[in-house]
Amino acid sequence: MVDEIMPALFIGHGSPMNAIEDNEFSRLWQAIARQMLKPKAILCISAHWVTHGTQVTAMEAPRTIHDFYGFPRPLFEKQYPAPGSPELAARVVELVGESKVMPDLSWGLDHGTWSVLCQMYPQADVPVVQLSLDRTIGAEAHYELGRQLLQLRREGVLILGSGNIVHNLGMMVLEDVAFEWAFEYDAKVANWIQERDHYSIIHYEDHGRAAILSVNSAEHYLPLLYVLGVEIMEVDDEDVYEEPVSFFADKLWGGSLSMRCVRIG
Ligand code: ZN
Repeated sequence: MVDEIMPALFIGHGSPMNAIEDNEFSRLWQAIARQMLKPKAILCISAHWVTHGTQVTAMEAPRTIHDFYGFPRPLFEKQYPAPGSPELAARVVELVGESKVMPDLSWGLDHGTWSVLCQMYPQADVPVVQLSLDRTIGAEAHYELGRQLLQLRREGVLILGSGNIVHNLGMMVLEDVAFEWAFEYDAKVANWIQERDHYSIIHYEDHGRAAILSVNSAEHYLPLLYVLGVEIMEVDDEDVYEEPVSFFADKLWGGSLSMRCVRIG
C-alpha cells in the first residue's frame, strides 16, 4: 500500500537563475523527479504567493509569472506552459472546506513553482495548481492546513513546498559561504525533521537568535510546514509507522540561504 503513495517534497529554490542554469541544484532537482513515479498532478505551496486568506489556483492554463527584477533576459523569456487543474483545485476546496480556501483565477505559476518544475518536469506535461500562504494565520495553522491535504498523496498528487529553510535576503552575500547562525539553524531543523519533532519546527520563535535570523520574514519557511503536515505518522496500539525522510540537497549558499531539500516517503 505504502508504495502507492506519492512522496512529498520540500525544495530549497534559492535564486531564480536555477531555472535556466545547469548547476549542482538543478541537477539534483532533475534527479529526484527521475527517481519518482510521474505524478498525476502537482500541488505547489510557493513562498512567493502570500495572500489574505488561503487561495488555490483554479484556471485551465496558468500564466508564467516573472516575479523578480534584475535578472538576464533569458530568464524573463522563460515560459512554463504546464496546464492547471480545476479538478485538483476543487478537490483541495473539498478537503480543506469551502470557508477556508478560495479558488483563484488571476495568479498563475510564480517562480517559486516554475523555476523548480522546469528542471524537474521540463516537458511541462503535469498539471500544476498553487496554494497560497495566508498571511493572517500562524505557523501551527499552516501545518494543520497541510495535514488536511494528506489524502492527495494517495491520489497521485505530488505535494511540493518551495521555499528555503534558512532565508534572509537582507544579509545575503553573493559568495559560496554560510554564516554560523545559518549553519546552526539549518542543522537544527534537519535534526528535528529526522526526529519527527514537528512541534519544534512550528515553534521556531522559541529557538533564539539563529532561528529568528534564519526564518526572518517566514514566507520561505512556511512551505516546509505543509510538506511535514502530509507526512504519515500512524500510531496504533502497538506500532508506530514512520515514513522514511531524506535530504537530497543540504548546502548553504550566499551566507544566509539554505538550499536543503527534503523528501518524505
Ligand atoms: Zn524565493
